[in-house]
Amino acid sequence: MVFSYYKKLYAAQKRIYRRSDSIISVSLPDAETLQQLIPVLTALLIEDDLVQVEDICRKITLGITSRLSIQPLRIKVLAVRPSASWGELHGLYEPANGRASAVITLWMRTAKQRRVVAFKSFLRTLLHELCHHLDYELYRLPDSFHTEGFYKRESSLFHQLMPEAQQSVPAE
Ligand SMILES: [Zn+2]
Repeated sequence: MVFSYYKKLYAAQKRIYRRSDSIISVSLPDAETLQQLIPVLTALLIEDDLVQVEDICRKITLGITSRLSIQPLRIKVLAVRPSASWGELHGLYEPANGRASAVITLWMRTAKQRRVVAFKSFLRTLLHELCHHLDYELYRLPDSFHTEGFYKRESSLFHQLMPEAQQSVPAE
């Protein structure tokens, strides 16, 4: 299945899209040692400790980029999600483009209720933005599209970090 915006892409973009769609998992060597960081992230989110959440997100991210032998990136965790008529921003990936490194920005609180974001959706957002980084740095794609393959890679990382969530999270 391709998403509807595929039809509007140029031929070169369609090629990138199809390549992205064809990669459906990320094999993370030694994922087991990263799994122990996940309960720490859960606890810190409940404690609402922004500085420590940022620090553990950095460790998880560095754990993944170093295991995949790709460029590390910066992580910024901010308080309240920006929002507008289009909705809320959950996370943001900015490629390096001349900067020292690419940057992922995450927000800890929902705009509406100012509640701390649920743990699984926070981790999913981190992995989602990281998958954009993988598109550029690991797969060397000139662009990073949201394809079915992209979402499968996000799920693949999620389940390697949280194998016990296999049953409770529906597969995309
Ligand atoms: Zn995205």
